[in-house]
Amino acid sequence: MSAPVTLVLATRNQGKIREFRRILDAISQGAINLVGLEEFPHTTDVEETGKTFKENALLKAQSVCKETGLPAIADDSGLCVDALNGAPGIFSARYAGLHGDDSANNLKLLRELENVPEENRGAHFTCAAALVLPDGREHVAEEIFEGSILYAPIGDHGFGYDPLFRPQGFSISSAQMSAEEKDLISHRGKSLRAIAPHVISLLTSLG
Ligand code: IMP
Repeated sequence: MSAPVTLVLATRNQGKIREFRRILDAISQGAINLVGLEEFPHTTDVEETGKTFKENALLKAQSVCKETGLPAIADDSGLCVDALNGAPGIFSARYAGLHGDDSANNLKLLRELENVPEENRGAHFTCAAALVLPDGREHVAEEIFEGSILYAPIGDHGFGYDPLFRPQGFSISSAQMSAEEKDLISHRGKSLRAIAPHVISLLTSLG
């Protein structure tokens, strides 16, 4: 068997690395060695200046591929609320101002939807995953996770808006699901599974 091909994931988040590794390993059977940015501490943090999830995922993967000279993969995700015309969207992580302040973001979301009735509280998460190879080839996959916004947070699994998000067809929030349960139906799980076969065929063609 040939040596595994190294693929760099454009994140320093260990949870995200574990999640990508779990999904890619299941399909690639050891053909891919996924490493995070902790192996490349001098890479620059890319500004997410794109107007869409796909653009931002591509920007991150292109930058890491250029700086490391290795195939790179990145994702970009967020929550789109119907009654807010798709907000917070690509600005989900910094909706209330400070990047990654989950409780402030959730409070702001609840305030914005204060007088919105149940039937108009539809929302979805979106995730775009992008693969960029040093020879310029690129591939992007985007998937959504549909549901609605609750009136109060519940559950302590997951992260971000999970305590306020009720997946379609469920009576619990996504913060009350196990990681494995959420992976099966989530925007991130679906976009990773959609891009994984391309990752494997493109990378094994390099090796
Ligand atoms: P990023 O893709 O890491 O930039 O995440 C964007 C932001 O979207 C996160 O900080 C969360 O606020 C939100 N988000 C994305 N996916 C999820 C999810 O699965 N659950 C809850 N919040 C999410």
